[in-house]
Amino acid sequence: MKNKIIIYTRVSDPSQVDNNSLETQEKVCRQFAKAKDFEVDRVFREEGWSAKNTDRPELRKALAHCCVKSNKITHLLVYNFKRFSRNTHEGLAVISLLSKNDVEVISATEFSEMNSIGRAMRTVFMAFGQMENEMKGEVVKDNMQSAFRKGLWVFKCPVGYKRKHRSKQENKGQPPVIDSNLAPIITKMFRNASTGIYNKSQLAKMMNLDGFGDHYISKRKKTRATHKVVHNILTKTFYYGEMYSSTWDEYSTGLHEPLIDELTWKKAYHAVVSKKKNYSFQDKELYPLKGAIRCFHCEHPMTTSPSRGKSGIVYYYECRKKNCKKVRININKAHDQFDSILANIKPSDDVIDLFQNMVFSEWDKVVAESGDEIEKMEEAIYALKSEIKSIRKAKDDGLYTLVQAKEEVVKIQREIVSLEIELSDKKVEKYDTEIVREFTNRFLKNLSLLWEKMGLSKKQAFLKQIFYNDLRCTTNGEIRTPKLSPSFELIQALGEAKGENVTPRGIEPRLLG
Ligand SMILES: [Zn+2]
Repeated sequence: MKNKIIIYTRVSDPSQVDNNSLETQEKVCRQFAKAKDFEVDRVFREEGWSAKNTDRPELRKALAHCCVKSNKITHLLVYNFKRFSRNTHEGLAVISLLSKNDVEVISATEFSEMNSIGRAMRTVFMAFGQMENEMKGEVVKDNMQSAFRKGLWVFKCPVGYKRKHRSKQENKGQPPVIDSNLAPIITKMFRNASTGIYNKSQLAKMMNLDGFGDHYISKRKKTRATHKVVHNILTKTFYYGEMYSSTWDEYSTGLHEPLIDELTWKKAYHAVVSKKKNYSFQDKELYPLKGAIRCFHCEHPMTTSPSRGKSGIVYYYECRKKNCKKVRININKAHDQFDSILANIKPSDDVIDLFQNMVFSEWDKVVAESGDEIEKMEEAIYALKSEIKSIRKAKDDGLYTLVQAKEEVVKIQREIVSLEIELSDKKVEKYDTEIVREFTNRFLKNLSLLWEKMGLSKKQAFLKQIFYNDLRCTTNGEIRTPKLSPSFELIQALGEAKGENVTPRGIEPRLLG
C-alpha cells in the first residue's frame, strides 16, 4: 500500500510570487511525492498574512485531518520547514503532536531523503522539547531565584547543614556546609532507612541514641528526633544534591556536598516514606528502565521486584512470565550497563558540526535577514508612535474631532501591536537557535549525562524514541540493544569512525542518505 500524505503550503503575503507562491510550493511537493511514490490525499493552502503564529486555520485543519486514524495519513509534506513554521516552539509542538499520531513531517526541499541525521535531530528535539524550554527559562528578575538556579540554597539550611560564616554578607554566593556533628547521624539514618527494616519511630530512636538531640540544629535550637523529624529529612532531595523549592516549584542541582547518594536516598524514601502513598511514582523513579527492558527469552517486559535479603531489600528487574522465569537482574547492574550503552552512542565533533550546519542553515539565513528586518520594524513602530502624537496635537488644534482622533489612534495602535508581535517572533527565533545550539553541544555529546538529568517522563520518551522500548536482558545478566533508532545507530558509527571519512563541514554526504 502506498503511503498516504497531505501537503501543506503557506504564504505569509498573498502578493508573494515566484519561488514562494502556493502554486510553486505545491508543484514541488507533488513532484517530491511522485518521486517517492506517495499518494497525495489532500492539499491544505494557507493564504494571507500570518506573522502571528496563532491563527492558521488551514494548519489546524491539516492537523485535525492527520489525527483522524481512519484517514491513514503517514506524512505531512511541506515545501520547507521555514514555510511550515517560523517559530521553533510552534514547529516542534506540531511535529511532536503529529508524531504521537504516527505522522511524520517531511520537507520537499530540505533533508530531502529525510536522512538519518535530520531524523536524529528531530528525534532529539521531540523527546526534549521540554528540556529546551527549561534551559531557556525565563529571565529571572528575582535574585534569590537566579541564585537558586545557579545551585545555591537560599533558604534556611536543612538539618545537618549550616552556614560557614556568621554574617550574611560573607555567606553570599556560598552553599551551605556540612555540620560535622549532625551529618554523620543523618547519613547513618539514611543507610538504615534504605534497608527497609525500620520504621520512622525506630529510626528516630536510633538517631537519639547516636546523640541527635545533643546538638544545635539551628542557632538556638536543640531537639530530639521524632518520627516527624525523620519524615522531614527523608523527603528532602537536598541530601543527595538536588534542591527543590516549593516557592517556585523548581529543581536545581545544588553546589553543596551531598550527604548520601541518590540511589540510597530513593531506597530510603521508598522503604520508609512512600510505602503506600505515591508508591507507583516512586517505584518508577527507582526503576527507570521499567517498560523498556525485556526478557531475552520470552521478549516480555520485565517486572520489578524488591526482594528482602539478609542485608535488607535488593531491587531487581525480573521476568515473571509463566513457564519462563529465566531472567533477573539487579537494578544497579542494569543501570550501569545501560550507562555504558549510552556512553557508546557518542557523536564525534564532526557529526555535531554537521548536525548544526544542516539544521540551522535555514534558520541562520532567516536570522541574518531578520536583523535588518528587526531594525526596519523598530523604525516603523517608532514612526507610528510619533504619528499618534501628531494626531493628538491635530485634535488639540481643532483639525480632528475627538471621535475622529480616537478612531485614527485605535487604527494605528492596532498596527503597532501587530508589528510588535511580528517583532517578538523574530527575536524569539534568534534566541531559540542559540539554545538549541547549546543543547546539542552540551548534551548530544554526553547522553549519559543527559539521561542522568532527565525527569522520568523524558526518560520514558527517550527509551521509546531511541531504543524502541526494547532493551533485552540475557540469562547471565547482560543488557543488549537489538534495535536502536537508525539515526542513533548512525551517530554511534560516526562517533567511532575517527579521522578517515571526515565529512567537510556543511556538506551533506551521500552515504548518510
Ligand atoms: Zn521471560
